[in-house]
Order: sequence, then structure tokens, then C-alpha cells
Amino acid sequence: MEERAERAAKIIGQPEKYKICEGCDSILILEAAACPNCHSYRFNANVSEVVAHAQFLASRMQTSVAQEDMY
Ligand SMILES: [Zn+2]
Repeated sequence: MEERAERAAKIIGQPEKYKICEGCDSILILEAAACPNCHSYRFNANVSEVVAHAQFLASRMQTSVAQEDMY
């Protein structure tokens, strides 16, 4: 859990290095060619949206178990 919060903090600190997958809403590094989760090639690299999305994911992490935790 803390690792995830740390990752979110890192994204919020450097949002220009990340992008949001439009297929599954995961946050990926900007260098990623395709989403490893859903293989989408459509991304949203808008800095303010990346920050808002990282904040949303961080707040959700604290209250519920994310889908990834089930694997
Ligand atoms: Zn995806």
C-alpha cells in the first residue's frame, strides 16, 4: 500500500513523465509504446489530468483494495 502511495507521489511530482491509458485508466511511463494491461495505444498525456488521476488513484488506494491486488 505504501509503495503505491509513493508511486502516486512520484507521478504527481513529475506528471510530464507519465500518461494515462485510455483503455483501462492505468498510469504508464511516457516511454511505454502500448499499455501492458489492455494493449491499448491510446493515451492521455495531459499533465493536469495525469496529476488528477494519480491523486484519484492514491485516495482510492487508502480505502479499498485495487483490482491489481487480486493477482
Ligand atoms: Zn490500458
